[in-house]
Amino acid sequence: MAVLHNPKRIVVKVGTSTLTYDNGKMNIRRLRRLVTVLADVVNSGIEVALVTSGAIGVGVGKLGLKEKPGDTPGRQAAATVGQCELMFMYDKFFGEYSHIVGQLLITKSDVENEERRANLINAFEKLFHFGAIPIINENDAVAVEEIVYGDNDSLSAIVAALIQADALIILSDIDGLYDANPTENEDAQLIPVVREITDEVFAMAGGHGTKFSTGGMITKLHAAKIAASAGIDTILLNGTEPENIYKVLDGRQIGTFFKAPERKELS
Ligand code: GLU
Repeated sequence: MAVLHNPKRIVVKVGTSTLTYDNGKMNIRRLRRLVTVLADVVNSGIEVALVTSGAIGVGVGKLGLKEKPGDTPGRQAAATVGQCELMFMYDKFFGEYSHIVGQLLITKSDVENEERRANLINAFEKLFHFGAIPIINENDAVAVEEIVYGDNDSLSAIVAALIQADALIILSDIDGLYDANPTENEDAQLIPVVREITDEVFAMAGGHGTKFSTGGMITKLHAAKIAASAGIDTILLNGTEPENIYKVLDGRQIGTFFKAPERKELS
């Protein structure tokens, strides 16, 4: 059966829509619930790395801007403000459960450069060794492409491969991958298991409305593909109920499970 079996190390990715209200302000109740679940998962003996978005969204809310700035420096500035606020809240909430967090802001060039990648892996491993929880975002103040494309889904898969996680759990505002756009088609069926991410699978996501095809589902499929090529299973889950993570870890079928082929060593 395509379910998780006793993972030792997982990456959880949470997106802006899960963490914030439509006005950009932080959804404190949701964030608290997510932290409670993850703190408990770590207590159970599983290592967790959290890839978080929300820096720009929270920064926009905190700066009192009416909308996301149209210019890149504006979005970069918002991200720097929001990132502080995000980490402050994570530190505070995880701290309530006696957990320590460490922040890693990564760009593509850090991962592509052999020496910096090795340094990064060492930092991750040391954090796990210390029993701390790595919290990762793109370094939005310098990573302009990230701001333009907004793709922490791929980043989470890259992190999962870097730290050789057993699974990547992507929290989203939808229950999983559907065979048609569920907001337009009430007969749309949730696909519980995907064994290969083919063009046909991409077409299911691409055929969805603008909301899904620009960012939404497509980047999640790209992420699942990156993870699969490193032998890592991906589970796409509705993050509205962060407790769904327990069901995945209990080996239950929920959301969409992207089964990876046998793990290969990273080159
Ligand atoms: N790194 C961006 C942020 O924290 C978001 C990227 C994404 O949503 O995928 O605001």
